Amino acid sequence: MGFLDRLFGRKGNKAAPAEEPAAEVECPHTAVTARWDSAADMGKTELVSAYVCESCHATFSREEGAVFVAAAVERLRVSEESRQDRMRQ
Ligand SMILES: [Zn+2]
Repeated sequence: MGFLDRLFGRKGNKAAPAEEPAAEVECPHTAVTARWDSAADMGKTELVSAYVCESCHATFSREEGAVFVAAAVERLRVSEESRQDRMRQ
């Protein structure tokens, strides 16, 4: 058997999967932080110049960033609530 396999050059059905570029994992932008142009404006959400994601370094406008920040706050709130639920049981 092995002889015939060699004779006919059978190398098994090694259909090598096509090389795919490493799939880019979509960042959920959970670590978005605010940036201010002027240090004097720091801490003032209405004067935020941009938001930057700490994990993928994408930048967002104030409107876009605020959405991610709100989502992060919501996630925090939900996880805190479920933690308290567990403690009550
Ligand atoms: Zn990100």
